[in-house]
Amino acid sequence: MKISFPHMGTSPIAFKMLVRDLGHEVVVPPRPSTRTLSLGTEYAPEFACLPLKILLGTYLEVLEQGADTIVTTGGVGPCRAGLYAELQKKILEDLGYEFKMVVLEPPRWGYLDFLRKLRFLKGDRSWSELWRVIKKAWSKVKALDDTEKALHWVRPRELEQGSSTRTYQRALKLLDDACTEEEIKQARLEALRMMKSVPMDPDREVLKVGIVGEIYVVLEPASNLDLERMLGEMGVEVNRSIFLTGWTRDNAVLDSARVKHGVTVKKAAAPYMPEMIGGHGQDSVGHTILYAQDGFDGVVQLAPFTCIPEIVARSLMPQVSRDYDIPVLTFFLDEQTGEAGVRTRLEAFVDLLWRRRRKRAGAGLYKPVASPAAR
Ligand code: SF4
Repeated sequence: MKISFPHMGTSPIAFKMLVRDLGHEVVVPPRPSTRTLSLGTEYAPEFACLPLKILLGTYLEVLEQGADTIVTTGGVGPCRAGLYAELQKKILEDLGYEFKMVVLEPPRWGYLDFLRKLRFLKGDRSWSELWRVIKKAWSKVKALDDTEKALHWVRPRELEQGSSTRTYQRALKLLDDACTEEEIKQARLEALRMMKSVPMDPDREVLKVGIVGEIYVVLEPASNLDLERMLGEMGVEVNRSIFLTGWTRDNAVLDSARVKHGVTVKKAAAPYMPEMIGGHGQDSVGHTILYAQDGFDGVVQLAPFTCIPEIVARSLMPQVSRDYDIPVLTFFLDEQTGEAGVRTRLEAFVDLLWRRRRKRAGAGLYKPVASPAAR
């Protein structure tokens, strides 16, 4: 099979290794570009959410490159995520493409269906071999996430703007080249060492901002105009509420959403949003509350335009923001969103957060937040 999959953050680095280890050819999806979005926008329904359009564009690009199988994830809950893959498949088939689409639903919602699809993907590999291959890919995803967390810490403290991003790109290449468990382990250590060696001022005072929102636009920089980089270069240490490792562990497999201050994210959100409404709306509210309790300076919510769960979460944010005294800035992202507009709003937000910090420090209300890298 010639397999491809969505491009979401750094995950293609791990997934391409997994596909090759299973003995298939891989068509690595390109980083979403203007062309990707134009293709998706041309063939998707006008009011479809941004991830559907970008993914549709990506699938068109990988099918052009010869992919015959697309592996993607499904979705549960009352938003459109569960319909995504079916709709994309129908659109692509109407355009004349012949291919197989394998939609992996969260295993805890149907183990048998999940195993059936795994059996198809593993081909003639044994189950133990499949387990070994998945375990290795998981190590790589963890190494990628750890390196990105280090980048979030280093970037606002770098002495030369752009140096941490360049080092990060080299670290990613190292992780990409690692093939065995041992090589991945060594590459992770070396990548973290490289990030630590970026010339920086570790004592620089930085703002701490939490990032919440829908998973695709949070994890894929091409969909959010590299907002984390913009914030980092404005002297903000970002803390992302979703990483692929944490999300897979807490939602897709275990339903054990992270406990902080003795409550889970869902429990924290419950007084405002007692039910799961699909997507990540409930998580956006819960994480915002937990960030406030952790003493963060502010929260940025990333939402695809027309994303129902995030629209509902957004409607609750003014109340959450007042109750927990935390500024929240929401971006609704679509194909019309431009970098200049995002940058201008971020600059104003950062300015507000600094003034608020100074005021709170003057009133003796500000307590510095420990950064993960310093804990
Ligand atoms: S979570 Fe939002 S962006 Fe994702 S499918 Fe649902 S409505 Fe669309």
